[in-house]
Amino acid sequence: MRPTGKLHLGHLVGALHNWVNLQDTYHCFYMIADWHALMSEYEKPSAMAENSLEVARDFIASGIDPERSVVFVQSQVPEHLELAMIFGDLTPLAWVERCPTYKEQLRELSGRELTTYGFLGYPVLQAADIALYRADAVPVGVDQLPHLELTREIVRRFNSLYGKKVFPEPEPLMTSTPKLLGLDNRKMSKSYGNFIALSDTPETIAKKVTQMITDPERIRLADKGHPDICSVFSYFSTFGGAVMQEDVRDWCEGAKTGCTECKKRLAHMVTEQLAPIRERRKALTDAKIKEVLHHGAKKAREAASQTMDEVRKLLHLAA
Ligand code: SF4
Repeated sequence: MRPTGKLHLGHLVGALHNWVNLQDTYHCFYMIADWHALMSEYEKPSAMAENSLEVARDFIASGIDPERSVVFVQSQVPEHLELAMIFGDLTPLAWVERCPTYKEQLRELSGRELTTYGFLGYPVLQAADIALYRADAVPVGVDQLPHLELTREIVRRFNSLYGKKVFPEPEPLMTSTPKLLGLDNRKMSKSYGNFIALSDTPETIAKKVTQMITDPERIRLADKGHPDICSVFSYFSTFGGAVMQEDVRDWCEGAKTGCTECKKRLAHMVTEQLAPIRERRKALTDAKIKEVLHHGAKKAREAASQTMDEVRKLLHLAA
């Protein structure tokens, strides 16, 4: 996760819930990718350390358990750059240039000068992030599949060039996570500011929900609504379960409840669901988070240095 700000509901339903569950089956590494964030934030990096702490706080408050999983900040494990450098040597330029997620990021992070050497190489750094821990699997959404395929191609090339299967080819762990749109019906994004943060207060949540876009044809209470084109309804579908979803459909299509009341109920529901996360966040002091990250970096470095010892030997680099 890139530390470019506080995490929001989209991260919670699209990634964190799944990551929490994966801890029951896998030995997981959860990385705060500050070097990746620096690729877009290099002109104004002043909030980087603070953002990393906030992301770690959101991880743990959401249920990632640092006793079972390794939670760490990328820049505290220098081996990521070392392996990225080596992968960069053997990755044909055309492979990174054609990467669709690279092109998508260029579009999404508009307003920043991203035609840099570092940014072009971010899929290679990402391949190193995965391979360094010899990951068997990576939880991804469909849109990230081409990216993971590039990692698989790079490690395959490495293994074949040096005649040893140092790295497994990571498999995608596909999960059907719901996609939550932003409050304005656009893609939920930190840069659009159209999200509810996990740390938002009940007052802020209520204010943000009030601004959500509803069915434009429903002006008066007596107007029958079309929930399927309303972002408020999509949030009920995600957070309220099937019964609640049917109730809202009934209020809306039957013109039984107005949009103001409907939004109030949604704000209440989201506030209730975020309450345990908010409480746990409060209890996580900066000192506690730093301790977790220090411990995580130590465990990550142990695994990373074992991998790099083997890589260095294989490449005949000076011991
Ligand atoms: Fe959307 Fe609810 Fe209004 Fe229907 S009643 S348009 S679901 S806010």
